[in-house]
Amino acid sequence: MQRNIFEQDHEAYRETVREFLAREIEPNYEQWESDRLIDRSAWLAAGKSGIVGLSVPEEFGGSGVADYRFRYVVAEEIARTATTSFGSGLSLQDDIAIPYIVNLGTDEQKQRWLPGMAVGELIGAIAMTEPGTGSDLQGIKTTAVRDGDEWVINGQKTFITNGIHSDIVIVVARTDPNAGSKGFSLLVVERGMPGFSRGRKLHKVGLAGQDTAELVFEDVRVPATNLLGTEGRGFVHLMENLPLERISIAVNAIAVAKAAYRWTRDYVFERKAFGKPIGDLQNTRFALAEMLTEIEVTESHIDRCVLALNADELTAVDASKGKWWASELQKRVVDRCVQLHGGYGYMMEYPIGRAYVDSRIQTIYGGTTEIMKEIIGRDIASQ
Ligand SMILES: Cc1cc2nc3c(=O)[nH]c(=O)nc-3n(C[C@H](O)[C@H](O)[C@H](O)COP(=O)(O)OP(=O)(O)OC[C@H]3O[C@@H](n4cnc5c(N)ncnc54)[C@H](O)[C@@H]3O)c2cc1C
Repeated sequence: MQRNIFEQDHEAYRETVREFLAREIEPNYEQWESDRLIDRSAWLAAGKSGIVGLSVPEEFGGSGVADYRFRYVVAEEIARTATTSFGSGLSLQDDIAIPYIVNLGTDEQKQRWLPGMAVGELIGAIAMTEPGTGSDLQGIKTTAVRDGDEWVINGQKTFITNGIHSDIVIVVARTDPNAGSKGFSLLVVERGMPGFSRGRKLHKVGLAGQDTAELVFEDVRVPATNLLGTEGRGFVHLMENLPLERISIAVNAIAVAKAAYRWTRDYVFERKAFGKPIGDLQNTRFALAEMLTEIEVTESHIDRCVLALNADELTAVDASKGKWWASELQKRVVDRCVQLHGGYGYMMEYPIGRAYVDSRIQTIYGGTTEIMKEIIGRDIASQ
């Protein structure tokens, strides 16, 4: 079946993204993976080519593109080139950090941060997870105590994407210990604030070049003007953005599954065993047939979610369905594709090898598969 989600503008943009990746990212990617850090120059290049900051409104120096299909194109091209460590930092900026500032920021905050974010000069992060708590955000221990015109932040965060490079970090902190879920707020901590330090650059199973770090806050004094959104409504603000965050992971998942399928389809008709291409074996064909069917069926849901997001109608439940299903599918497909590549599938110089280690995290971050099912189950039970 022909897919009809993209129009001419998206396909023209695809060429821009493809050319950008070939020129700026692919030649350096192996080095950045071994450095375990994508160089900041990649961000600046992305700014110049219009790959970062798509949704920043024009008045703040961005392209003002609200149509998520352009981000879908970026995800597909990044998956095709197996440069996911770059893509995940970019997604954090475009799908999480920027929307928070655009949706919750005051005019003054937008002026201060968005122009830099739009061109890749200012990198954003969000810090929810702590060593003691991830899925259960009510367990957050980081505190922010009001002192005159400032908030004083103490605590520790871990697994923070863009942790090393980030210039601004949206920190989820407890601002009222007696208010339960209404006692959390979002505060923006900026590079160089005394008491704010970065811990280890974390050594991960995959996504080697993705910048993931621990962050430490010791009596960090943040001006009251860095409160993002409304005091005490931190959790509400998180919930409002989660559908976008989750669908961005689902989009990436289906893009990687499709890329893995295509590499494998090409490979099996070239590789010979017992005198014929392994693609001529019934087992291989059944595997390809099953994967393609699952990919196309899943893609329909994700495409519909993206169009719903564009129309501001994407629900948390539909995004959760897309997130857990597509990321579990990605894991299954990539694993089967490694098998069909034989020993070459286990080599990092093959994109399928990279996709294998990079895919594992997808069912964990942005809310685990189990948490997604909790959200869907709660909705079913409430009807
Ligand atoms: C590479 C990477 C990047 C990340 N980037 C960020 C970031 O930028 N910002 C950020 O804040 N965080 C980030 N995270 C953290 C990520 O979101 C958390 O790891 C994730 O939410 C899971 O939390 P946890 O690790 O504490 O696991 P836990 O919450 O301890 O979960 C452990 C297991 O218990 C299960 N479980 C927990 N609660 C339930 C339940 N109610 N029912 C059934 N099962 C349950 C989970 O599904 C999981 O299988 C990142 C993590 C990684 C690895």
